[in-house]
Amino acid sequence: MKKIGFIGLGNMGKPMALNLVKKGYSLKVFDLQPAPTEELKAAGAEVMASAIDAGNDVDVLITMLPSSPHVEALYLSDTGLLAHTAGKPIVIDCSTIAPESARKVAKAAQQFGIPMLDAPVSGGTAGAEAGTLTFIIGGDATILERTRPIFEAMGKNIFHAGNNGAGQVAKICNNMLLAIHMAGTAEALQLGVNNGLDASVLSEIMSKSSGRNWSLELYNPYPGVMENVPASRGYQGGFMCELMNKDLGLAMEAMMHSKSTSPMGALAKSLYAMHCNNGHSKEDFSSIQKLYSGKS
Ligand code: NAD
Repeated sequence: MKKIGFIGLGNMGKPMALNLVKKGYSLKVFDLQPAPTEELKAAGAEVMASAIDAGNDVDVLITMLPSSPHVEALYLSDTGLLAHTAGKPIVIDCSTIAPESARKVAKAAQQFGIPMLDAPVSGGTAGAEAGTLTFIIGGDATILERTRPIFEAMGKNIFHAGNNGAGQVAKICNNMLLAIHMAGTAEALQLGVNNGLDASVLSEIMSKSSGRNWSLELYNPYPGVMENVPASRGYQGGFMCELMNKDLGLAMEAMMHSKSTSPMGALAKSLYAMHCNNGHSKEDFSSIQKLYSGKS
């Protein structure tokens, strides 16, 4: 299990792939954009000319793509990976996509004799860089055990959520909650600032009080409160609003599919859709702060 193909070297994929190289794995990488491949090349990875080349003759193939259509097109089309990859690697898709898509691709992979796991991640770009991601895995537990060292090279917490698609369901629930507490945190901080408080002082107080949460403590959305978070670098890098908007759309689909009620999730979906439409889709999702500050 030493030869790995890695496709999708964006905000998350690039640092994940770099960690695998650092841990001694031999990597074949591919991205549609040339820029991120340069860093991988400098680190010792082999840059391939196509996705199929990256998937050929490797033990494990990892993909980290934006959304369901990207994943389905890459694996399932007539020119796709399942039909053309030589050597039948274990396939691990780390993208956050619809559970239905994950099941569909895994079923097609099975017909080609290719084992597949859905393994969406949590922990953001900082977790990807530090190798401390949480992996939320759906699929055959024995395949997870065979590939566990690879997950451990990129992450700290590795959960088996259930069968194919279960990883995506758990991830969607998590991100719906994340969107809700990010929006709530931005709202509370702005209320304090508008009433004369300093955002750093208020953050410190709430971090030691019952309002504490991940967005407040580790990913503060108010500019200048924390170093090394997107809010303090013009909301660049990180987790784009358009991806959060996509994940909230997946949560709404899951809600309707299961006849659940998710009023807070539905409100968060509307807030993020509005924020994207206001021109912030490529900014980090903590830029929802601008919706409250009126600086958008
Ligand atoms: P990104 O847009 O930065 O990166 C995606 C990369 O995939 C891009 O470099 C793009 O060029 C490449 N790509 C797209 N189609 C391709 C194809 N056919 N072949 C090769 N490369 C292709 O996105 P990201 O932030 O890295 O997120 C990736 C996934 O991880 C998304 O599903 C997202 O929801 C999820 N996620 C992101 C974060 C985060 O903090 N950014 C956290 C957890 C999960």
